[in-house]
Amino acid sequence: MSEFVIPAPQSPTVAVEGTEARFPVRRIYCIGRNYEAHVREMGGTPERSTPIFFAKPADAVVPSGSTIPYPPGTANFHHEIELVVALKGGGADIAPEDAAGLIFGYAVGVDLTRRDLQAASAKAGQPWESSKGFDNSAPIGAIRPAASAGDPQGAIRLTVNGETRQDALLSSLIWKVPEIIAQISSLWTLQPGDLIFTGTPEGVGPLVRGDKVEGQIEGVGSVAFTIG
Ligand code: MN
Repeated sequence: MSEFVIPAPQSPTVAVEGTEARFPVRRIYCIGRNYEAHVREMGGTPERSTPIFFAKPADAVVPSGSTIPYPPGTANFHHEIELVVALKGGGADIAPEDAAGLIFGYAVGVDLTRRDLQAASAKAGQPWESSKGFDNSAPIGAIRPAASAGDPQGAIRLTVNGETRQDALLSSLIWKVPEIIAQISSLWTLQPGDLIFTGTPEGVGPLVRGDKVEGQIEGVGSVAFTIG
């Protein structure tokens, strides 16, 4: 066994429904602008051009039930509920028809965003790390194995303090899950342990200290957290 010059960081993990065993996270890929009504609310024009991909660090995951500190450096901290795909297989140049066999399961995640920094980065043509890839920016519920989740197509909803903020259908995804997997694998070699955040529907908005956030996806599960 190798020795390390400093204590080796632990691999981040996510809970799995129905077992004590954990899902180890290798990478977190995210797709932007994947629901028409959300593209419009952000001032864009929906079109099936090349999708936008970005990433979060693997250790941005936070388990459901956590209190997440209000992050530094922002005055406009937004929620984006998303279907998350957890991979048990991978590869490069995956065909959409081969994607389903690579999916371990699905979870409910929230792509937390420093919207003010994102807007400033977009305007300046700068990268998105500070607006998307910050600490605790990926709260995620337990993964439901695909064997019981099937191919989720139902409602995706987020409430803040019990008030509905986002309420849409997974069936309105512009790029469907197999297409997203195919596209990402044309740019990076996907591997077991990768998570994919598939984009958020309309209704994104700000969170403040003390907010209680709950997200549900029909047939997949839930996530809940409080802003500290
Ligand atoms: Mn997002």
